Amino acid sequence: MDYQTAFQDAVRRVKAEGRYRVFADLLRRKGEFPVARWRSDEGKVRDVTVWCSNDYLGMGQVPCVVESMKKAIDDVGSGAGGTRNISGTTHYHVELERSLADLHQKDAALLFTSGYIANEATLSTLGKILPGLIMFSDELNHASMIEGVKGARCEKRIWRHNDLEHLEELLAAAPADAPKVIAFESVYSMDGDIGPLEAVCDLADKYGALTYLDEVHAVGLYGLRGAGIAEREGLMDRIDIIEGTLGKAFGVMGGYIAADGAIVDAIRSMAPGFIFTTALPPALAAGARASVEYLKAAHHLRESHQERAATLKARLAEAGYPVMESETHIVPIKVGDPVLCKRISDMLLEEHGVYVQPINYPTVPRGTERLRLTPSPLHDDGMFDQLIEALDDVWERACEQTGVARA
Ligand SMILES: *Cc1c(COP(=O)(O)O)cnc(C)c1O
Repeated sequence: MDYQTAFQDAVRRVKAEGRYRVFADLLRRKGEFPVARWRSDEGKVRDVTVWCSNDYLGMGQVPCVVESMKKAIDDVGSGAGGTRNISGTTHYHVELERSLADLHQKDAALLFTSGYIANEATLSTLGKILPGLIMFSDELNHASMIEGVKGARCEKRIWRHNDLEHLEELLAAAPADAPKVIAFESVYSMDGDIGPLEAVCDLADKYGALTYLDEVHAVGLYGLRGAGIAEREGLMDRIDIIEGTLGKAFGVMGGYIAADGAIVDAIRSMAPGFIFTTALPPALAAGARASVEYLKAAHHLRESHQERAATLKARLAEAGYPVMESETHIVPIKVGDPVLCKRISDMLLEEHGVYVQPINYPTVPRGTERLRLTPSPLHDDGMFDQLIEALDDVWERACEQTGVARA
């Protein structure tokens, strides 16, 4: 076997499809969100405006978050030093889990090292706890949920995205006495649409299923205290397991579930992805808790976030850009071709200091390649002007250079 060639060929295939990923080398400027320093391949450094961060509110730089992390490091040092079971549980972890349980009005919460691991570990472990489980999974669920469903090694049914009739058809066809889990998301992060929470809960009641909801792109951002769409819609008590991240709107890192005490205790006791890994550093737990608590009381930030997103959508549409329909803070502009998408993104960055990462397959289906903008409360009108001027300058030229027609 010529291993070298096998790896090179794999990359060549990705490149041929125009979806080879190049990471932007960035340093943010604390206190100047969303401005960052970008280092080009030639080593030149320039200031850019970041338009695609999932630190949706700039919480990663808020003084109370940063200071609580520094304080924790000064208090207890850097790492946790062990798994949660073997000396890695610090009081910071305990307090953060309490804060998250309170956020979601659940008995308990359980931390994981990321939202990805929270989904993968929890869903796969449900398959071990519930013999004969059938998992009902929305077709557009995040990769981490798909891996969790696979890992559960149970029967699965994939329902068409947000299609309640299809979900009910599949539920009705399953044996009435089989345990069932319906796994879905609240905010779908690439299209910016929202799952039909209440109707899914009704179906779960009717067919005796548990509900598992990924609120990764909603926690911190929706509801009066930032618990997500389930809070906004008054449904938190009807969702059995809520999963979230501390790395996006909360601006730090880590993932969690919040649920009934018995569920959390079972996952805590059985999930390899929770048990066999070093606990998050105490400073991360401290920073995340400061952020969660801050956002419980900062509804004005959520309102201003929504206003910014609505204004940007209106301005882009007015300027003639194909803004995809989105009911949330996510502002996708359709490009429809991976090479064009990357070219526009490169030109925006190199010529205008506007950084928006191209979103290509497999993150989104082929033919729906897009620029995904995430304006924050700190993106002001002047930045909106700059963005639209930059788009006006590069879009047509990028089409000509790539020979791809405008979407
Ligand atoms: C980003 C993401 C995750 C993973 O969360 P991390 O904390 O970044 O690992 C899970 N679900 C969805 C829908 C996501 O977009």
